[in-house]
Order: sequence, then C-alpha cells, then structure tokens
Amino acid sequence: MIILTYHNLVRQPPNVLNEVVRKWDKVSAFERQMKLLAEHFTVVPVEAIVQAVQEGRSLSRACAITFDDGYLGAYHYGAPILERFGFTAAFFIITQKVYESGKFNPDDFDRLEALLCLTAQTRLDLTEFGLGRIELVDEDGKLAFIRKLTKQLKVTPAAIKRELAASLDRQLAVPEEKIAAYLQQEAYRMMSWEEITDLHRRGFSIGSHTRTHPALSQIDGAQLEFELGGSLQDLRERLGLREVALAYPYGKAEHISAAVVAMAQRAGYGCAFTSIKESNTPATEIFQLRRLGFKDLMKMNGALNDSTTFAHHRSSPIGNEVAHEHDRATQ
Ligand SMILES: [Zn+2]
Repeated sequence: MIILTYHNLVRQPPNVLNEVVRKWDKVSAFERQMKLLAEHFTVVPVEAIVQAVQEGRSLSRACAITFDDGYLGAYHYGAPILERFGFTAAFFIITQKVYESGKFNPDDFDRLEALLCLTAQTRLDLTEFGLGRIELVDEDGKLAFIRKLTKQLKVTPAAIKRELAASLDRQLAVPEEKIAAYLQQEAYRMMSWEEITDLHRRGFSIGSHTRTHPALSQIDGAQLEFELGGSLQDLRERLGLREVALAYPYGKAEHISAAVVAMAQRAGYGCAFTSIKESNTPATEIFQLRRLGFKDLMKMNGALNDSTTFAHHRSSPIGNEVAHEHDRATQ
C-alpha cells in the first residue's frame, strides 16, 4: 500500500537552487503523474490505508496522496487537478507558518534559498559550525553549499541552528526587505487559514506538520509538546477536527526518536507518517507509516523510463503486495 508525498507545485521553479535541491514538482509533471496513477493504481483516501493497516488487512494496488508543508501551490494547482481525477489527498500544515497578510514569517529553507540567490558575498566562513570555508562564486558553488547545509540543518540541535542562521544572515548581508520581497513570489506563499478551510470543506483531509517544522529528534520535552500538542490544538480550534494525523518534519529515522513517537501518541494524534521510502503492509506501525515520492515509486517498479509497463513487474515490492497479503495476527 503506497502513500505518496508531495510538497509544493509550481509552474516553474523560482531559481536553479530550488530546481535542483528542493522537492517541488512542476504542475505539468503532477498532472501526468496523476494520469499514471489513475491507470495503474486504485487511488484511495489515506485514511483507507491507515484503517487497513490497523485492521491487519492489505488493499490491493492502493495508493494515497499527501502534501506536506502547506504551500499555496498545492491548493492552487494541486486540489483542482485531484478533483478532476476524482482523487482526494491529505494536506499536512505547519500551523505557525500559515500565511497571514502583512506577516513575514518564512520557512527556514525558503529564507536560505533567498539569501543565497540575493547575496553579493562570495565567501562564507562557517568553521565554527564544522562546515569550513565556502566559496559562493558561481551557481555550482552555491548548489554544493545548499546541499551540504540542507542535510546538516536537518540534524542540527535547535540552539545551534539559530546561531548558524544568525551567522548566515550576518555574513550574507542581504537587507531584510529584499528577502521579504523575494519570498513574496507566489511559489513561496503558504496557504492561509481561509484556503485550508476551503480544502477541508471540499473533502480533503487536513493534518499536522507541527507548528514550526523542526527536526523533532533535536528538541526536548517542552518544545516537543509545543510543536506536537500545539499544532494539534491549532487545527482543532481552526477547523473543528477530531481525528488528526501527523506528518513528521523531514521524516527520516534520524528525525523520529522513541520520545517523539511517544509524545505524538500522548498528544492525541491518531497516526503518523514518516518519509521512510517503503510501501506499507499490515505489519506497519501506525505511528511509523511509510511514504515515498513519485520517482521512488517508479524506481521501485523498475520503470523510471518506461512508465507504460510499470504496473507489470510482479517481482517489485509493489507487485508483491498482493502475493504477500497476510493477517498481522499471524506474524
Ligand atoms: Zn516538511
């Protein structure tokens, strides 16, 4: 049982750094992917997969769609395309990054992207953070740096991350109003509560992606409570939700400690989604649900370049699902 993750949909990535490093999809590609899903899978609400896992059942060729982060592109382009195919999806919102006009509160990686695109500086010294001296003379230099830094930031303790961000701001020296103007481009806009409410009204699921999108394994009890309990409370107050699902920020094993899972359960979530690239079986833990990107799905089916055949590789992990149908109780 496959659960796909998308982030933002854009007509055109806003810059080269974004195009190469971020997991944003072009609207045209998304549309083609939905067509392939319609042809080769049974697209179901993510709740149907969660319920099947809970009951120890398998759903043959089932695929569900999720969007993380709450970017406007997912609402503006994604939702109408999904509706045209008769699909639904779950949208995981960072509740303190929701768009409010007049309030400038960008996502950390959006801000970093803007800084690197706008800076006139060609040198950075980050030796105190173990990142050495960096040359930013051309796009290749910037790309290599943003890749390294993105990886590092996902496992950096919150306090050091703040110091690192302050050092980048100081050294790259881009005026705040320039950053704000850059990030006002449509591609970087988050959904507003009105837009989120509209999605919910149209039958899409809304879930939590925390309040500020930290790597949850890097924060402690009180902060964890703020991020997990807090965003759940935000969604309940804003949308009147009862059952709420969580998508862990970054979502790899190193971002999800046992304490994180325990807090998610205690906070009252019904289930939680990782970004560990596997399909789900009746044995999957309900707070460790697996998700992958469309490209991963194609690779799993061994048909990245031959999409027309990708449903027919019976030896692939997806093709095997039907054969492996079993009762969790027997394991
Ligand atoms: Zn995210």
